[in-house]
Amino acid sequence: QLPTTAFAQQVLHSTSPTALISVNVSRPPDVVEARMLLPIVTEEQPIMEAILLNPVVIICGETGSGKTTQVPQFLFEAGFGSSTSDNPGIIGITQPRRIAAMSMAARVAHELSLPSFRVSYQIRYDATVSPNTSIKFMTDGVLLRELATDFLLSKYSVIVIDEAHERSMNTDILIGVLSRVLKLRDDMWKAGKADVKPLRLVIMSATLRVSDFAENKTLFSTPPPVINVAARQHPVTIHFNRRTRSDYVTEAIKKTAKIHTRLPPGGILIFLTGQNEITGVCRKLNAKFGVKALERKRQKRQFADSTVEEHDTVNMNVDIQPAHADIEAEDLDLGHQQADDLAFDVDAGMTDEDPDALDSDEDTEEHQLDKELGLDSDDVDVPMHIVPLYSLLPSEKQMLVFMAPPPGSRLVVVSTNVAETSLTIPGIRYVVDCGRAKERRYDVANGIQAFQVSWISKASAAQRAGRAGRTGPGHCYRLYSSALFEHHFDQFAQPEILRMPIEGVVLQMKSMHINAVVNFPFPTPPDRATLFRAEKVLSYLGALGVSSSVKKGLMAAGDSSVDGQITELGRLMSLFPLSPRFSRMLASGQHHGCLPYIISIVSALSVGDPFLHEEGLVSDGTDNEDGDVDGLVKTGRKEFFRTQHMHSALGNFTSDVFRMLSVVGAYEFAGGGLQFCSQHFVRPKAMEEIHKLRAQISNIVQANFPSAGTGFVPKLVPPNELQLKVLRQLLTAGFVDQVAVRKDRLDNSSAGLKYTTCKGVSYRAMGVPEDVFIHPSSVLANREPPEYVVFSELIRTTRVWIKGVTVVNPAWLSSLATSLCTFSKPTKSINGELMVVPRFGSDGWELPAIKADKVRTP
Ligand code: ADP
Ligand code: MG
Repeated sequence: QLPTTAFAQQVLHSTSPTALISVNVSRPPDVVEARMLLPIVTEEQPIMEAILLNPVVIICGETGSGKTTQVPQFLFEAGFGSSTSDNPGIIGITQPRRIAAMSMAARVAHELSLPSFRVSYQIRYDATVSPNTSIKFMTDGVLLRELATDFLLSKYSVIVIDEAHERSMNTDILIGVLSRVLKLRDDMWKAGKADVKPLRLVIMSATLRVSDFAENKTLFSTPPPVINVAARQHPVTIHFNRRTRSDYVTEAIKKTAKIHTRLPPGGILIFLTGQNEITGVCRKLNAKFGVKALERKRQKRQFADSTVEEHDTVNMNVDIQPAHADIEAEDLDLGHQQADDLAFDVDAGMTDEDPDALDSDEDTEEHQLDKELGLDSDDVDVPMHIVPLYSLLPSEKQMLVFMAPPPGSRLVVVSTNVAETSLTIPGIRYVVDCGRAKERRYDVANGIQAFQVSWISKASAAQRAGRAGRTGPGHCYRLYSSALFEHHFDQFAQPEILRMPIEGVVLQMKSMHINAVVNFPFPTPPDRATLFRAEKVLSYLGALGVSSSVKKGLMAAGDSSVDGQITELGRLMSLFPLSPRFSRMLASGQHHGCLPYIISIVSALSVGDPFLHEEGLVSDGTDNEDGDVDGLVKTGRKEFFRTQHMHSALGNFTSDVFRMLSVVGAYEFAGGGLQFCSQHFVRPKAMEEIHKLRAQISNIVQANFPSAGTGFVPKLVPPNELQLKVLRQLLTAGFVDQVAVRKDRLDNSSAGLKYTTCKGVSYRAMGVPEDVFIHPSSVLANREPPEYVVFSELIRTTRVWIKGVTVVNPAWLSSLATSLCTFSKPTKSINGELMVVPRFGSDGWELPAIKADKVRTP
């Protein structure tokens, strides 16, 4: 196959392809040794030749084959990323997950014995990049944003898109955009116009399903070569359950206990769906098999076995903990049956979201497990070293999975999908796969979100099983039947772009002058209705010019012409690493000194709810991602809202968002810290991220609003009444199409009826066919229900709930959302003023009349 690019010609004529190593590196001895075992290392030559001779190369290799850690090093050694070489630009590697970007940068820096300012990372909140950076790991979102300011990516000599098989939305868009950037850089180089060489693109994938990229003619006119790295994969025996049970959490514990007690040494990796399940399983396993549990057992045994001759030992035990020892002895002899019965009762009504249910008595849990497993509590001697892994876990705790377990113990990692492909955990020999994953599903038609636990794909199941075969032959226990697997599992997971709102990426594309989004070379195109909806949202926000077709579309949703051009406002909005709604709030935030507040608000909204929600405190049947509060008392949360730190912002109960604002303010006044977080039931990681995001957004604001003048304001003083009102107006501007109206206001169904709380009070939300309700966690929940609100989220559990609710004045809707309104002909009111009646949104809700001169046409 003849190389076609100018660059490739040059390589052929000037460099011998065999002279690949041009930069010397020194690796620590243990790394040199470990690298030898990686299958990809033997493929260095063919990989580098392919990269030098082709603009695009696809590398496929099983997880753990060394793609992420080694390919950047091959490139570095070949001279990419070194200022003195032929390819001086940075080596950029994108990851769909922050945790991978950070940990892989650290790993590669270590392998190359280079400091973090040479092998760096950049994620939304954080960066170690410097002018001397040679290798940069980043999230796919970071690179996508860089394209808006430098479409040629002139800093880079090569871009490596990692984990392409995951089909994250940003990765898909990046591949589409980069296919164009490559051509531009090549053309400019050929024409002698650019001082940067053509860009190389490497796409890496853990599965062989690359046809969406490789055989996509609109992406790459010449199909890129695909290099398969033969995995040094040991055989993994797959065991299906005969039956599929719904309580997969208990099944996972049972299976793990069986493996631990009956099978030879080797790490166990358990795949579950979320944090709740993971912390619950870790607790139960710890109670039974943890180091402390086994130590307790040993003591008990010693106590029971001890004879008069071992007088000293007995005395020791009795002396130190006489009462304790007594109770335990009693339990052992008499309490057994009772404990089982009790445990059974508790367990029958217990779900995993009920963290308190079994906390009281670890022994009970232990006996329960014994009974389920048919184990004698004394037949285990090897303790488990149990490590949880999920994305909300603090980074330093996430890193624990890479550490060797204490000698004589068995590593047990209880993980979400994170361990499926991004991270390779050493020493795993057994995989327990529940076959499910928790996914955020988003209904494109009405914006309702739901967290759903659903079956994974066959490809994912294969990935999970593969984790057992890295160190030697392994076993994968699937907690579902082979029939279910065959008939109900999809071959591959659906790309994210088909499942999530896309207004953010559409705005990014528009800011890169990609106007006709329908013609964009998506690896898997979203349907036209979704694109149309995204353009509509952007036009409501003022980011796109309201083209006539979009306006008509408000009335006739079938019209799918999309041609909106980015406005000045939209361009400003695209500078922020945020959802367009939040950027919209920022873009108008410079009045009345509101910027520091709105920056804090959008930071908190972007990071997500920092509050820990304890089941029972507020219950709606939601499976909160954060049900585990480590036994903290429930009243503490309420107490928090009475503490002296509290900002007056909360006092007027007009917005849930102000509660977030007040906790951000209080956190900074307290000087941050873990103690504050545990005292006030907020997640330390979330608070830390909010803090960093505030600083970062403040910098972007300062660079782009010369008049704004405020840098980062760490300590906020409470906003005044006027500011609170302006903040609610800004929230209205961002959530302009996420409006709900109390139902009786629309149909006069219960005119005159007095409500005291929001409980059971129906609202209509624009474009949503069913009634919605204010979530019980809202600050408004126990007050008189407001007539008009905007909201940040629609979540379906037992009902459709609105969350992040803010009380608004309907007059703001008609002035902020003119493109969503139609207006009646002006009529004279009793006092002689010209009034018009606005009708709002696709349902044509009648809003209170406003003065005709208040109507601004878009
Ligand atoms: P791939 O990208 O193909 O899945 P990686 O390059 O991530 O493979 O991993 C290659 C090897 O490097 C794995 O065997 C893994 O155990 C090891 N490794 C990766 N990160 C670390 C780390 N932080 N500490 C120790 N070993 C690591
Ligand atoms: Mg990898």
